[in-house]
Amino acid sequence: MLRTLNSSGLILRRSLSSANNNAGYDLSVIGGGIVGVASAREILIRHPHLKIAIVEKEKTLAFHQSGHNSGVIHAGIYYKPGSLKAKLCVEGLHLTYKYCDERNIPYKKVGKLIVATNKVEEERLKVSKYVMFVINVALT
Ligand SMILES: Cc1cc2nc3c(=O)[nH]c(=O)nc-3n(C[C@H](O)[C@H](O)[C@H](O)COP(=O)(O)OP(=O)(O)OC[C@H]3O[C@@H](n4cnc5c(N)ncnc54)[C@H](O)[C@@H]3O)c2cc1C
Repeated sequence: MLRTLNSSGLILRRSLSSANNNAGYDLSVIGGGIVGVASAREILIRHPHLKIAIVEKEKTLAFHQSGHNSGVIHAGIYYKPGSLKAKLCVEGLHLTYKYCDERNIPYKKVGKLIVATNKVEEERLKVSKYVMFVINVALT
């Protein structure tokens, strides 16, 4: 299955046989998971004149990991503070909320409770600026 994005970011479906008659894509993204679709969308926003195809081997988008995850908008807590991964995760978090707000997509901000089960973990939690709660659990 081949998907193309129009300038509104709408995904159009074409079977591979009909896609053969639509040569001339500027760019093909292989894989219609969140990374492929989000990449294609961002490229189209930055370069609206491009004709982009998303090539997905399954019959639907997000058939694998992207459609089977926990649905958590991660806060970057598990990444080294100040690292690129941590920064991108936090930036992505804000962009995700903005995207949801603009499209009235519901979400819940339930916070995160992180439990340190030993001294090492407790020290790790202390250096993180994202920590809201630290609970000491007595190990017996
Ligand atoms: C159990 C679990 C829970 C998770 N929970 C969360 C969470 O709560 N929050 C979060 O942010 N992340 C979570 N993740 C991580 C997140 O789901 C993944 O990082 C993300 O979905 C990866 O997206 P992707 O597009 O890279 O991969 P995928 O979603 O796997 O997409 C790749 C696509 O490429 C297609 N493909 C592969 N090879 C080809 C080919 N040769 N030709 C055409 N198409 C091809 C596949 O069919 C697939 O559709 C979780 C992951 C797991 C496993």
